[in-house]
Amino acid sequence: MAWEAVIGLECHIQLRTRTKMFCECEVVFGDEANSHVCPTCLGLPGALPRLNAGAIRMALRLGLALGCDIRHESQFARKNYFYPDMPKNYQITQYDRPLFEHGTLPVVVEGEAREFALTRIHCEEDAGKSFHPERTGDRSRSRVEFNRAGTPLLELVTEPVLRSPADCAAFLVTLRRLVRALGISDADMEKGQLRCDANVSLRPEGASLLGVKTELKNLNSIKGVERGVAAEIERQRRALDSGERIVQATLLYDADHDKLAIMRTKEQAHDYRYFPDPDLPLLVVSEAELEQARASLPELPWRRVQRFVAQYGLPPYDAAVLGDSRELADYYEECAAGLDPKFVANWLMTEALRAVNERAWDVARWTAQVPAARMADFLGRVARKELPGPLAKQFIGWLADEAGGVDELLARHGVSVKGTAEDLRPIVKAVLDENPGPVAQYLAGKTVTMGFLVGQVMKKSGGQAVPTLAQQLLIEEMAARS
Ligand SMILES: [Zn+2]
Repeated sequence: MAWEAVIGLECHIQLRTRTKMFCECEVVFGDEANSHVCPTCLGLPGALPRLNAGAIRMALRLGLALGCDIRHESQFARKNYFYPDMPKNYQITQYDRPLFEHGTLPVVVEGEAREFALTRIHCEEDAGKSFHPERTGDRSRSRVEFNRAGTPLLELVTEPVLRSPADCAAFLVTLRRLVRALGISDADMEKGQLRCDANVSLRPEGASLLGVKTELKNLNSIKGVERGVAAEIERQRRALDSGERIVQATLLYDADHDKLAIMRTKEQAHDYRYFPDPDLPLLVVSEAELEQARASLPELPWRRVQRFVAQYGLPPYDAAVLGDSRELADYYEECAAGLDPKFVANWLMTEALRAVNERAWDVARWTAQVPAARMADFLGRVARKELPGPLAKQFIGWLADEAGGVDELLARHGVSVKGTAEDLRPIVKAVLDENPGPVAQYLAGKTVTMGFLVGQVMKKSGGQAVPTLAQQLLIEEMAARS
């Protein structure tokens, strides 16, 4: 039978606030264990939570960007469970009255524009971290670390509207780009700033009922999500094809070994006994706060990509690559001002991004080393054919690794661009002398031979000739001789 996969995602987005959700402790990554804790985030008796207004301002930006319905009075609830990294024995989250419901994320999957519907987004606090013997190497003890406890999170839940591992990857890439553009999260999956669980079920193709779902927990890279979901779809397909029933379960995906392990089945599921947190008032969002959040929104990444297509005539693929981050998109627009936008796009996408990858840099490192003004000066000269192609490609490396303007770099590397007629005329004459056959062909009307002759001039000049000038001189010389 042909099966269709039905996937829903639950994403946790760590907000980049200075302090935690309900106390004044700083949010940091990588500091000494348990150095950013207080009675509130340690859950000591008598400590009271106080809401971080900055976290809510960030949340509002996301809700508005995704077109969610915003609840003007939402409520915090306690989710009760016992775990060593959860010192209060409950997590403060939102339950039946979340801050946001509905909304959509526009995503391009393999060239096709899709809109993935969301169920809800709510605010909550993160737990601490446990380190067990198999991880720490110390067989005698487990450790807990509370620096992360109380970090502000948004949990975003999609409807079961994704259909493939590729959908999941594209969704996460788009979400990551959005929260970075909004400035609300660094969304580095390796640091746990963006985490994802996936609910996966299969049903006969064309059916409308949902099959029994399983939940994949703690997928910590986009590749991991893609491969974990693919492995689970495959596992369920094999089971269903051989007549087995799917058991509702929570699974862990081990990305290193591409293996799935069942953590617990439904019988072991938690009953969290949610109830409204009596220590926190209703979360009230006023019209004025909403208006302020709306005014703080940047141009949304997908709108910017659309604008790159409309305004600069870029192909959608180029627009998507250059619009991948706010940094790169800003850089592109600065470089392209006054130059041919497609020409600039080509140079950034092929040569500049190649140089970035070869050096294992990120875009920020590149834009710091080669600011837009420096790059635009260089590209302007390439566009005006003052720097021949092969030299220009080599030049990208000099820009990346050295300081100085274009002229300085030329001088430092002892390169004199043969940019004047005086430089080139002797080479042009020699090429004409050495190639009587092609010259005769050209004069007899076979104009494509010009390409060959220009190529010979380029070769003889060591790639330093300006091709348009070479062509002009060849025509002049041939006219003078015939
Ligand atoms: Zn604290």
